[in-house]
Amino acid sequence: MDYLSEVSSERLRRDLFRLCRDPFSFRTVMYTIPWHDRNSLDEFDDFLVEELKQYAGDVVKYPYKVRPFRCDSSKPLHHWYSSPREDDPWYDANSILVTLPGSGSQSDEIIQLVSHKDSMSWINSPGAHDNAVGTVANMELVRILSKIKLNRTVRVLFCNEEHSPWHSLDMAKLAKSKDDKIIAVLNQDSLCGKSDEDAATGKKTFACVYSTPEGKQLAMAIAALAKELALPLDIIVADKVKVNDDDGSFIKAGYLTTVMNLGSFPYKDSQYHLPGDIPERVDIENLKLSTQLILAMILKIDKEGFQLVKD
Ligand SMILES: [Zn+2]
Repeated sequence: MDYLSEVSSERLRRDLFRLCRDPFSFRTVMYTIPWHDRNSLDEFDDFLVEELKQYAGDVVKYPYKVRPFRCDSSKPLHHWYSSPREDDPWYDANSILVTLPGSGSQSDEIIQLVSHKDSMSWINSPGAHDNAVGTVANMELVRILSKIKLNRTVRVLFCNEEHSPWHSLDMAKLAKSKDDKIIAVLNQDSLCGKSDEDAATGKKTFACVYSTPEGKQLAMAIAALAKELALPLDIIVADKVKVNDDDGSFIKAGYLTTVMNLGSFPYKDSQYHLPGDIPERVDIENLKLSTQLILAMILKIDKEGFQLVKD
């Protein structure tokens, strides 16, 4: 069956606008929808769990505490976040973990998907590219993968990265402490976020970046697969060098076959971390192609595993 054609631009668009316009606008502890009694991140978590439960039997909320970043507009434009103060309040938040169990002999091997689901806590921004797009891509992947008989297990972490501290580090450490056999980690963050020039010319972009030699092999495999499938994506593979973001959390825990999928690198979205990061700017066709490529890679790893080449 042609699973790639299952990726629906209508659903991606619908979900994107649900996250960024109606009903949520923002997904942060710092914003509460008028007349509601819970913050928008808390409300969004319930929405996400309800949505995911339609497709997956194993959806678990991991509660923890976060603090919003403070806003320091004296810093460079895209980096106004600053650390919370000692006496700043803590809020309840959740990470959400979805497991789609494999039924083959290698079901102990896990393909780990990640996306942060929150929007910026220091400003009110819809956070369309950062990172509603990664969230809706992973939601769509859950829907499609839930209908496929998987050999290996696929796990999807929806975490928070625009609040402090990052829970992905704890989740990765927890996996390591249980000796979970995570064979590949794919972090979807800012898919199809690109320069205004590339947006104007309609260029479909995909950047797969790595911070380890093992991650490099995975990134190269993703680029090769895009070529093999003739997906009309302009792909770059790049060394991120820095072990950061939610993929970095898994690397720090010892899971080295890890990549981050985004739309450009270095990141070129002019509205990065600004209120102008709105859903109307998202290239849905590019988002669909990116989601298709990630789906294809998951299915390939599910079938063949991911063998590292020793040099
Ligand atoms: Zn961000």
